[in-house]
Amino acid sequence: MKQKGLLYAGKAKSVYRTDTKGQLIVEFRDDITAFDGGKKDQLKNKGSYNAEASAFIFQYLAKNNVKTHFIQMLDPRRMVVRELSMIPLEVIVRNVAAGSIVRNYPFKEGMKLNPPVIVIDYKDDSRHDPMLNDDLIVALKLATPKELAAIKKAALKINTLLVKLMAAQGIMLVDFKIEFGRAGKTIYLGDEISMDSMRLWDKKTGESLDKDVYRFDKGDVMATYNRVVKRITKTGNSKNAQAGTGGKSKAKPGMAVKPKTPIRKPVKKSPAKKR
Ligand code: C5P
Repeated sequence: MKQKGLLYAGKAKSVYRTDTKGQLIVEFRDDITAFDGGKKDQLKNKGSYNAEASAFIFQYLAKNNVKTHFIQMLDPRRMVVRELSMIPLEVIVRNVAAGSIVRNYPFKEGMKLNPPVIVIDYKDDSRHDPMLNDDLIVALKLATPKELAAIKKAALKINTLLVKLMAAQGIMLVDFKIEFGRAGKTIYLGDEISMDSMRLWDKKTGESLDKDVYRFDKGDVMATYNRVVKRITKTGNSKNAQAGTGGKSKAKPGMAVKPKTPIRKPVKKSPAKKR
């Protein structure tokens, strides 16, 4: 496959046309940004860590009958994907209260959200990605009511699968953001699922294992990403993993890196019910 002209450059990924109809190349760059682009850096190998995590997760989801845009990896940072017409929605699934939901609403950080809470934002940097509701999504013609129902159903299925995948490695899936797109009438999961787009806490120590390490200067971001990608992809090789991809992990025994990020208290079980 030949890479052709640049189609789109986002904050951390570039999308290229190819010589194959209906297929694009997504390049995961080493750029990292936070706070609406207010904080920016380049971190060596970040692109390949996120690409590896995304590729592994997309394959795991596909094996569990989730339609994703993933086709194959060309090299450690370039992914071949099905061309989609992207729907400008950021679909966020939350299992535990953290981040903006704690800043904007009276939730305590670490509170379990059961059932999970779906929040959908309008993907528009110039408007700072405002939160939408079902009526707004339909009125703005971003999705039909039927499509919206399918998107929410897929988001919850993906959540169930990812919670299981992470739990097998002692990781709590606090929340994550996904994006969908259309190819014909079919809706596919697009974009990425990586340490940039998930919030992950170590179940034992409460340590952040995601972009919060970058956002809040909690430690060595790339050491964390490296460690997490090894932990996540190891599950696929485990004979006990119920839904692995069989993908190869590069993890070597004894390669564990000492946690450098501050330790958060482990999340307590749901608070006792009030009378
Ligand atoms: O900031 P907030 O708490 O709303 O983020 C929820 C989840 O969605 C986090 O895992 C975050 O990394 C992800 N997210 C994202 N891209 C955005 C906004 C949020 O990946 N533009």
